Amino acid sequence: MAITIELPDGTSKQYDAPVTPARVAEEISPRLAAAAVAAEVDGKLTDLTAEVTEGTHKVRVVTDRDQSGLEVLRHTAAHVLAQAVVRFFADKGGGVQYTIGPPLMDDFQYGFYYDFDLPRPIGAEDLPKIEAEMKKIADEKIPLERIELSAQQAKDALTALGQEYKCEMIDDLVRQEDVQTVSLYRQGDFVDMCRGPHLPDTGRLKVFKLLTTAGAYWRGDENNKMLTRIYGTAFFHRKQLAEHLERVEEAKRRDHRVLGKELGLFLINDTVGPGLPMWMPKGTIIRMELEGWLRGELLKRGYQPVITPHIGKIDLYRTSGHYPYYEHGLFPTMEIGESDGYLLKPMNCPHHIQIYKATQRSYRELPIRLSEFGTVYRFEQSGELSGLTRVRGFTQDDAHIFCTSEQLEAEIESCVDLTKLCLATLGLDDYRVRIGMRDPDDTKYIGSAANWDLAEDNIRNVVRKLDMNYTEERGEAAFYGPKIDFVVRDCIGREWQLGTIQVDYNLPERFDLEYIGPDNAPHRPVMIHRAPLGSPERFIGILIEHFAGAFPLWLSPVQTAVLPVSDKFNDYAAEVAARLREASVRVEVDDSPEKIGAKIRKATLAKTPYMAVVGQRETDAHTVAVRHRTEGDRGPMDLDAFAAGLREEIDSKGKRQLGAAEET
Ligand SMILES: [Zn+2]
Ligand SMILES: [Zn+2]
Repeated sequence: MAITIELPDGTSKQYDAPVTPARVAEEISPRLAAAAVAAEVDGKLTDLTAEVTEGTHKVRVVTDRDQSGLEVLRHTAAHVLAQAVVRFFADKGGGVQYTIGPPLMDDFQYGFYYDFDLPRPIGAEDLPKIEAEMKKIADEKIPLERIELSAQQAKDALTALGQEYKCEMIDDLVRQEDVQTVSLYRQGDFVDMCRGPHLPDTGRLKVFKLLTTAGAYWRGDENNKMLTRIYGTAFFHRKQLAEHLERVEEAKRRDHRVLGKELGLFLINDTVGPGLPMWMPKGTIIRMELEGWLRGELLKRGYQPVITPHIGKIDLYRTSGHYPYYEHGLFPTMEIGESDGYLLKPMNCPHHIQIYKATQRSYRELPIRLSEFGTVYRFEQSGELSGLTRVRGFTQDDAHIFCTSEQLEAEIESCVDLTKLCLATLGLDDYRVRIGMRDPDDTKYIGSAANWDLAEDNIRNVVRKLDMNYTEERGEAAFYGPKIDFVVRDCIGREWQLGTIQVDYNLPERFDLEYIGPDNAPHRPVMIHRAPLGSPERFIGILIEHFAGAFPLWLSPVQTAVLPVSDKFNDYAAEVAARLREASVRVEVDDSPEKIGAKIRKATLAKTPYMAVVGQRETDAHTVAVRHRTEGDRGPMDLDAFAAGLREEIDSKGKRQLGAAEET
């Protein structure tokens, strides 16, 4: 037998009998062997103990520094959790069924979970006991052994262990994917079905923590049984876990659902319905400011505003392809008798297309850019809803650009430019760009392969021209076209997908859109769908957390609190407020009988950027004593100069700060 192993450094090794990556690592260096967690053989992730046979193979040892290494660690942690839960119930009569337990690599909070059907409910107080059991299993250094069986043998083995859910999963694999063999992993007396790979033994799992329990329906379907989900996380190093837990705590302090309530920004309640946010006066101001600024930018860029209804006939969405493709995410149809029904709109495009089609279009009019802050409705499962970031009714800062194919790339470029401006203006400068391409094997994508290739090339040309760093992801396109997504990292390192730009040759075909070209013949325009913020609801939810509720001056619902030191100065405080309002500064006067210290604390807690304290001296001199939310006392300032300085800071979106002009 001749085996050649090619290593990443270009060297190779020869063997005449099957060899494991574990042995290869040992031969290279004991340090590598100690850090090894799995291997990549010819690009495929495998166990360290998987034998490499006959032929030439590329082998890379995966270590604790690889993202895929962390995934293997967390996979193993999930198995150890399941084994611990089985042991935990063993002396209580057993009866634990374990279902699925994946690693979570993109979740901010959790590193893995496992769903169980338990003989009795457990709570947070049980987690330390289960964690202690996991620790024991790790200390026992139990080897994980891969066993490949026929589907029937695997079912027999799992039936013997009383694992009905696993058997159901095998039946599905056989039926849907025609699977013949199934891999099981054994660690001691515990057996799980899994594709692997895993750590060679449980002793390599050292740093882990169970975090919480939750209910989860089997297969995510609310008609099925509710299972118990246990969430945890795992890392290679203790310091990584400590840093992670600190970030989770910081995220809790910034939770927009909590801050939104405390600061009186928005309301979501069961009376109106889950996932349907109502904007309180202060939150409405933030939204109006943000949208107003963007509207101004759109007008400068030649967009034309439109307004369209919240519902449309179901046939409209049949033509667009949203129905039935989107059906699972739609609210049920409204039957009114006069047609086959109406839908709450899941997207604005079909309406904007009607506006384009309302008259015959000439090439001279193109590009036509129709913009609308259009509210759409999508029926998310109630378990998926979260504050403003996952809702059932939300607005898109939407626009549809209809242009010729010659104009297309310049239009995409200007959409990229606008998205960058939006993010920079809000201080969200840390982002990456992801290009979502279609998966040619997936049937959900409409239109011809030629159209898709064209659209994907257009997008690549633009990002290359702009010299942007990007990654391409197959299967991440919209159903009608490929897209550029801006994935923003907030100040505590979480990633959010915000702005999106989508190129579409397909809806113009489905709706038979035309323009008359210079040759007097009809031509097909191309469409761009784009939303630089994504959705104001979601965007503001993220901003609340990014700023921890302390918005920059131009977005702050109350920009200055006027604080008289006693009620003797309430008249002058009213005069100050009137002067600031004249400069279009949003002001609140605190003329309550409280002491000035309490008034300052209250305004600070409300995250009001500036305070204008007024007493005898200020009344006499027609000044205010200026305090900044975080920087404290700024000293006395002439009232008119204060008003003008605030105005300047507001208009510059924070680029020029009050009182900083003299210093710089
Ligand atoms: Zn596994
Ligand atoms: Zn659209």
